[in-house]
Parts: sequence; structure tokens; C-alpha cells
Amino acid sequence: MNETTIISGKDFAKNLRKDIGRKVSILKESHGITPSLSVILVGKDPASEVYVRNKGKATIEAGMKSDTYNLPETTSHDVVLEKVALLNNDPTVHGILVQLPLPEQIFTDEIINSINPDKDVDGFHTLNVGRLNSGQNAMVPCTPVGCMLMLKDLIGDLSGKQAIVVGRSNIVGKPMAALLLRENCTVTIAHSRTKDLEAECRRADIVIAAVGRARMVRGSWIKPGAVVIDVGINRIDDNTTKSGTRLVGDVHFEEAAIVASAITPVPGGVGPMTIACLLKNTLTAACRQAGISEPD
Ligand code: NDP
Repeated sequence: MNETTIISGKDFAKNLRKDIGRKVSILKESHGITPSLSVILVGKDPASEVYVRNKGKATIEAGMKSDTYNLPETTSHDVVLEKVALLNNDPTVHGILVQLPLPEQIFTDEIINSINPDKDVDGFHTLNVGRLNSGQNAMVPCTPVGCMLMLKDLIGDLSGKQAIVVGRSNIVGKPMAALLLRENCTVTIAHSRTKDLEAECRRADIVIAAVGRARMVRGSWIKPGAVVIDVGINRIDDNTTKSGTRLVGDVHFEEAAIVASAITPVPGGVGPMTIACLLKNTLTAACRQAGISEPD
């Protein structure tokens, strides 16, 4: 029996970040451009603070410029709009990211749609959603881009594969399905109202789980030889660890790894790729704004 491949997103992301760093150096030397990412964080959500800190660190490590604007929890909608407008008008800023979730007095959709679509490195702006779905050059959300890079590296041509995306969020499920469709997969999008999810999953050559429910996708749901990409990040109790908790995905890893031909672990799978793809999008944004092609 063939061994199951454990897809190391950690290693993949490390190489990708190295390659981005190399391209950033070329861009600086040959065009005098330093790609720059500005992040707006409103409030003090501890998880968001960690994400933003990690994004800033990775940006610097890649040789890019990183700015973080920490605004108080009580910041008004209009003040965030003004901050975005300032960054939109600053030609030295190539990527703008507003960390979600935002406090309730701020209208998220309006803020996201106020970002210059060419600087929208999260790919959440309505114009980028439309561009992705109509086959135009879009900024694509980082997590699905990361999943797709790993899939293509592993499988090569995805054409004709049966794929299922479990979850239909705007940040993961829907753009993931659009990317799979663009690669000529036959795509099923499943969600909380899907009937017989198990049977739907069992038909798929590629399973993407983006649900937010710990170990929901069981090994018996996986077609033998399928490739499983687990986007989920869930913290569960575990009294064998020092902290009393541990992270697991949306897939029951131990069961699925026996049946699948390849699977991403949690942690160390999709997660590290998300940040690497944010850097990739920032580099792309900088090149597009300068009207130059990306260095090889
Ligand atoms: P959302 O909560 O926005 O969406 C979850 C989706 O799962 C919804 O479409 C929901 O369906 C569906 N769903 C919920 N329960 C079921 C069920 N029982 N059966 C089938 N479908 C179900 O989550 P996100 O997309 O933002 O995130 C998904 C997971 O991925 C989370 O664990 C999150 O932490 C993780 N994540 C990881 C990232 C990374 O970098 N690795 C980045 C982003 C997210 P419905 O629409 O019907 O409600």
C-alpha cells in the first residue's frame, strides 16, 4: 500500500517566503520599490493582535515595509473610512488590510469596499470577488490561494477532478470553490443545510474542509486515495498537554490519513500558507501598481 503524504504547509510556506524575499530584493534593486503592507487593527481582540503581529513580522522578514495602525475599540466608522482613504492615496502603500472582525459600530462591508481594489491584499473587495468569479485578474483571498498552491504542487493538472468544499464563507469556501472551478474541477459546495454530507464527500477526489467544527469530517467520509486539505483551526481540551488544550482541524486527521493519499496536518498545514500568500499578494500588488511584471 502507498504511504500517505503529509503535506507540510510549514515547509511549503518557508520556501515560498524565501522566494518572495528574493523577488523583493530584485524589485528594490532594479526598480527602487519596497513593497509595503499597512494593517489596520481596531480594538484589542487577543487573537487578532497575534495575527497582526505575525503578519507584521513576516512582512519585515520578507524585506517589505510593514505598518500597523492600532485604533481604539471605540473608533467610529468614519474614522476607519478616513484612515483607509489616507492609505489609498499614499503611493508608497501597496497593500491595505483591515483586520476582521471589526467592532459592531463599524460596517465591515462598507470599510472593505472603501479599500482601493488594487491594494486589497485580502481579496475581500466586491470588485475582486467579481473579478475572480468572472475569470479576470483578481486579488484572491490568501487562504484559498495557499490551498491551491499546495494542491497544484501535489497533483499538477486538476482538470476533471471531483472536488468538494465544505463551508461557503466569503473568505474561504466560496473563493476556494471559484479557484477549483477555474482549474476545471467539478465542484460541489457543501454547507450546514447539505443533505448527506458524508456521501457528497465520499465522491470527491479533493476534499477541502473549512467549517470550524473540530474533527467533523471522519475517515469513513473520504474516498480512498483522495487529497484532503484541512483549513479548520479548532482548539479542543486535551489534558495530556501542558496548556490543557490543543489545536485540531475540521478533519479527523488520524482516521482520514489512513484512507487519503495526501492530507494537510493542523497545525502546520494551511495556516502557515495563509501568511505566506499575504506576502505574495502584497508583492503582486506592488508590481501591478508600478506597472511592471513580477520578477522571475
Ligand atoms: P465560517 O464560520 O464563516 O463558515 C463556516 C461554514 O461551515 C459555513 O458555510 C457553514 O454553513 C458551514 N458549516 C457549519 N456547520 C456545518 C456542518 N455541520 N456541516 C456542513 N457545513 C457546516 O468559517 P470560515 O470559513 O471563516 O472558517 C472555517 C474554518 O477555517 C474555521 O475553523 C477557521 O478558524 C478556519 N480558518 C483557517 C484559516 C487558516 O489560515 N488556516 C483562515 C481562515 C479560517 P452555513 O453557511 O450554512 O452556515
